[in-house]
Order: sequence, then structure tokens, then C-alpha cells
Amino acid sequence: MRTRLPGIALALLSLPVAANAAEVNVYSLRQPELVQPLFDAFTAETGIEVNVAFVEKGMVERLQSEGDRSPADLVLTVDIARLSQIVDAGVTQPVLSDVLTANIPAEFRDPANQWFGLTSRARIIYASRDRVEDGEVTTYEDLTNPKWQGRICTRPGTHDYNLGLMAAMIVHKGSAAAKEWATGLRSNLARKPEGNDRAQVKSIWAGECDISLGNTYYMGEMLADPEQTEWANAVRIIYPTFEGGGTHVNVSGMAMTKAAPNHDDALKLMEFLSSDAAQAIYAETNHEFPVKPGVARSALVASWGEFTPDNLNLMDVAAKRPEALKLMEEVNFDG
Ligand code: FE
Repeated sequence: MRTRLPGIALALLSLPVAANAAEVNVYSLRQPELVQPLFDAFTAETGIEVNVAFVEKGMVERLQSEGDRSPADLVLTVDIARLSQIVDAGVTQPVLSDVLTANIPAEFRDPANQWFGLTSRARIIYASRDRVEDGEVTTYEDLTNPKWQGRICTRPGTHDYNLGLMAAMIVHKGSAAAKEWATGLRSNLARKPEGNDRAQVKSIWAGECDISLGNTYYMGEMLADPEQTEWANAVRIIYPTFEGGGTHVNVSGMAMTKAAPNHDDALKLMEFLSSDAAQAIYAETNHEFPVKPGVARSALVASWGEFTPDNLNLMDVAAKRPEALKLMEEVNFDG
């Protein structure tokens, strides 16, 4: 809220740059279309403006080089490994908030309060409606069965999403078994890994493969895009599990920078993003799973049925990322 001031002072303050206007600066790896509705809702409720810089690459390096002079208050990103990297680089600060601890379950936030999950998503199997029967593939381990030879498509094994899955496999089964799994999966690929998760579904639609790995929310994105609706309609979602475990899930989340020039307003934004209103926007606009208990999944997501999320600690998964990368390179997964 702007303080009421006498006429002259107000005229001076009305210059183009209102230095004292309440604002929060965000570095985001998340797509503009996704975050803008959230920030608009926040501004409507609080009057605090949100400035966003979309930072595709080099988030950590940028924050490190800016140091104490960084204009950024918050970072928004995906993947537990990336959140951990930002925290490990020492460019964030802990945030103590009763609102955040009440809204976000413990498994979706850092025990040291450096990062907070906002949504979760599952890494699942997209299966051809025509060429894959119900029950033919139920575990991640099934993907190494020779029956799938030449029938699987995936994006590169060195992408964060697949490294997260591989890291979870290492935590579940150990390095040797995980390496064997990656080798078996590679030998079943229809082609060299390339493209994003949706490109694999397109390949199923085109008849080039029968199953692919992908994140859940891409089904919603494909259905919303007239050019991709046909691809989406060629597949159904299968929630695979690890043998003896659940379905691999990862998070998107946020952290406050160490510099945070607008600390108090940034905290308000963090709390807002964990609220019922914001969590519902995440659910409806991006078809992710809200982390706040009691906030409903979108009708589309609910139509895919229930699943059992894997119960591994996300920090343990993040810790295995370097090894996951090393093993993927050793088996020449993308070669
Ligand atoms: Fe994604």
C-alpha cells in the first residue's frame, strides 16, 4: 500500500520509476504462461507487483556472480536436483514461516527450510492405445524386458527428468542394478534418444514406437494444443512403480535468494504460492499435483486414476544425481 502524501511529494513520486513501489523480483525457469496467472492473482490480492526474468540456463552462475547485489528475491524452478544445486551453491537463505510449514507437507520441503516444493509430477509411461494391452507393463523394471525391443522412445537419458528417475533407481536397487537397468532400457529403444517428452508421444502416434517415458502434465499440455491433441489421443497413461516401491515423483519449487532486496514481500509471495488459491491455479493450468493437502487435482488429472507415489526421500534422490549422470554416460545411453 502506498502511503498518503501531500500533493507535491505525490507529484514527485509519480515519476516513471516509483522506487518505493512494493515489488518482488523472480528468476524463473518455469514457463511464462504458467506463472503469469499466479503472479496476476497475487498482485490483485496484495497490490505487490511481480517482475519476472525467465532464466533458462545458468541460474546458479547468475546468482553467484550477482552476489549481494542480485535484484532477485525468489527463484522458481523444477526438479529436486536443481533446487538442491541452487541451495548447495550458497545463494539462498532459509525461510521460517508457519504458513509454509502448514501448507507444504514435510516430504516436499527442505528440512533446513532452504527450498519449498509447490507442485509434484509423476514420471510415467505413455502407452499406445492400439498396441499395448492393459497390464503389459506395470513397473519401471519391465522396460528392460526383451519383448519391448525396438518399441520404446525417450528423451535423452542425461535430461534432468530421466536422471531423477535413474537416481531413484540407484537408491532403490544400488548402482550395479541401476546400470543394468539403463543398459536394458537402452537396448530396447526404437531410436536414439532425442526431443522432449511430447516428441516421444508424437512418435507413438506415428507408429515409430509403442511406449515412452514422460511427465504426467504433458498429457494436459498436448490436449490443450490443437496440433498435439491427436498425439495425446493415441496414448494412455500408465503409472508404473518400482518393484517394491511406488511411482517416481519429482517437484517444482521455490527458494528465497540470499540477497532478497524485497524480503518481506517475497515471503508474502512464497506464502501465496502455497495457498489454496495458487495451488488450484497450478492444478488447473498445468495439470500438476498440488502439494497442499485438500487442494483438488484437475478433472483431467483425476481421470487418470489414483497411484501410489514412491516414498523415497527427495534429498536422497538428489544426492544420487551425479552418479546417475555418470552411469548414463558409461552405458552411452544417448549415443
Ligand atoms: Fe517439463
